[in-house]
Order: sequence, then C-alpha cells, then structure tokens
Amino acid sequence: MSYAGSCLCGAICYQVKGEFVSSSHCHCTMCQKQHGAAGGSYGNVSLRQLEWVRGQEWLSLYESTTGVFRGFCSQCGSSLTWSNTAETPDRIAISLGTLDTPFKQIVTKHIFTDTRVSWKNDA
Ligand SMILES: [Zn+2]
Ligand SMILES: [Zn+2]
Repeated sequence: MSYAGSCLCGAICYQVKGEFVSSSHCHCTMCQKQHGAAGGSYGNVSLRQLEWVRGQEWLSLYESTTGVFRGFCSQCGSSLTWSNTAETPDRIAISLGTLDTPFKQIVTKHIFTDTRVSWKNDA
C-alpha cells in the first residue's frame, strides 16, 4: 500500500509508503489556528515512509513550540506535516486532509479534547 498526497495548489506532492502507524484528531488550540478549523486530523508514519515527490522547496516549517515543527506550503498555506524533532525524531504526522489516495481507516482517537470547539456538532 502507498498513499499519494498534495497541497491545495499542487506545488508539493508526497508519497507515503506502507500503512499509517496510527491516526488522531487533535483539538489543541494550535491546530485550530494552523488549520483554521476545529482542529487537525493526522496520520502518523515513520520518517522513512515519507517521500517528497516534488516541491519540497515550497515546504516551510514553523516551530510552534520548541522542537515541534509544522510544515505548510509557502504558496497556498496547506498544512501538511507535524513533527516533534526533540521527542520523536523518527516520526512524522501527515495532515489527512491533504491525501489524494482515500484513507480507509476510521480515525477514532481524539487528543487535547479539553480545548475542543463548541460549534462543531460532530466533534
Ligand atoms: Zn501549495
Ligand atoms: Zn494539535
């Protein structure tokens, strides 16, 4: 199995080789800000499973807390990756909304639910 993904403008394309190790919906306030939404939905993989097919030069990294980097397209703003280089340097989280290959697993894990927004009825 492999998954293809891309940003909104298409400048950045990536491929995930193999299956996602885990997945979650994150309700933290930083994900709300970054995604401009109720939160972020992520699939986690080993760093070696991720390959940038094209446009890696468009990827910008924002260090939201020390060692935590949020990757986004500097042309269209799509949120693509999340990684904690201090604690889990061999792991990277992919924003599931950027996948072009359908993700068939159901994401059941919710984290940082204390800051869950009140306006999303299926949150
Ligand atoms: Zn883009
Ligand atoms: Zn979050």
